[in-house]
Amino acid sequence: MPFSKLGLPASVMRGVRAAGYTTPTPIQQQAIPLILEGHNVIGAAQTGSGKTAAFVLPILARLIDGRPALRVLVLVPTRELAAQVETAARDYARFTRLRCGVVYGGVRIEPQERMLRGDGVDLLVATPGRLLDLHGRQSVAFEDIEVLVLDEADRMVDMGFAPDLRRILKLLPTDRQTMMFSATMPPDLNKVAAEALVNPVRLDLAPPSKPAAGITQAVYPIARHLKTDLLDEILRRTSMGSVIVFTRTKHGADRLTRQLEKRGHGVVALHGNRTQSQRERALRDVRRGRVQILIATDIASRGIDVREITHVINFDVPHTPEDYVHRIGRTARAEATGDAFTLMSPDERKDVDAIERFLGKSIVRVQIPDFDYGKKTSSEPRESHGRESHGREGRESRGRTSSGGSGRGSSASRAAAAPVEGPVEHGRRPKRAEADRRSRRRM
Ligand code: AMP
Repeated sequence: MPFSKLGLPASVMRGVRAAGYTTPTPIQQQAIPLILEGHNVIGAAQTGSGKTAAFVLPILARLIDGRPALRVLVLVPTRELAAQVETAARDYARFTRLRCGVVYGGVRIEPQERMLRGDGVDLLVATPGRLLDLHGRQSVAFEDIEVLVLDEADRMVDMGFAPDLRRILKLLPTDRQTMMFSATMPPDLNKVAAEALVNPVRLDLAPPSKPAAGITQAVYPIARHLKTDLLDEILRRTSMGSVIVFTRTKHGADRLTRQLEKRGHGVVALHGNRTQSQRERALRDVRRGRVQILIATDIASRGIDVREITHVINFDVPHTPEDYVHRIGRTARAEATGDAFTLMSPDERKDVDAIERFLGKSIVRVQIPDFDYGKKTSSEPRESHGRESHGREGRESRGRTSSGGSGRGSSASRAAAAPVEGPVEHGRRPKRAEADRRSRRRM
């Protein structure tokens, strides 16, 4: 079905064409007509499914007629996602007179107050805490709100925003259209949904247990103390565009960033301890191909929309299968293809088992030829401990010793020697995105 059949007004269609979209994604085909008709919608949409346009386009259609006022509120869990949704909304709205704005925490509140109190906006994207702060300071009023969107609602609940969401819901007019988008639907979220949405239509297009079809998945069994060596080897041998490497902790992300830098890789870390401008710069550098590897934690990953990501590598296995699906959804966005590799130490096996149960299938195990899986220590000596001062290094070395467990090497070797198949051919798989990236760099 073409976009032209969805009933969007001409000025919004111009924005769609300018964004380069020709065919609506499945969620867009189903959600846009329903939202245009004024239904409340719960969309169990997979990450990368095109859900932002699925709600923003029909909302813009609704806003076109009517007086300027803050009429639409989009709540999101993270500042990256907030910035990303607002940028998308602004793009789609560029041929209309509608004004979009964004507010999130971690930056000064005064410029946001000036934006809201000055010209004002019609559509506001916000993280819940900052929105409540602004409301407390009487910088924003909700009496004209006609549409509320809860985007990545499962993550908002995960991050402890449920009480803030309830407070915001109490402040909004009850006579409004509400949409909720979420990759998963945990029980806590069902409760918030029951309070927020009256008679919603449920769109369950892509169950979260099904990552996008274009993603090739592989597990690399490895002793914990050899993970950095193996990652280094994978990065060298595999033809890759931009890569996201996930760690469980911020410290882990920082440590890995330094280790990979020392091995000559272009790396940048993205996590909650970074300032807003550091995060933005990191994403910009990856988008522009200046840096190839982004190291991120789960929370930071939520707002990442970098189209050229060809590989997601789980340096640590995520705690939950839902996080796994979210992480690997960072590649193969909007139906492109991508690879998702998971480095699994013996103690993480149960987490991989849980992921496989959730997916309803097993993930192929891969072993790198000629890699020394029996090494007792990692090839870290290239690091010069003397040059980097401060306590962080001290913590790191302790971390390495305690997690290194030299006794684990042999069991990892056994695990790695398990039957090896491979959709993954190291060094022999040029990717479309990689070619794109190279051509961009030439420009
Ligand atoms: P989202 O799931 O909203 O984060 O979107 C994922 C990516 O798909 C973004 O980079 C969008 O720009 C892109 N996208 C959304 N809708 C379409 C479409 N109909 N055709 C092509 N790309 C799209």
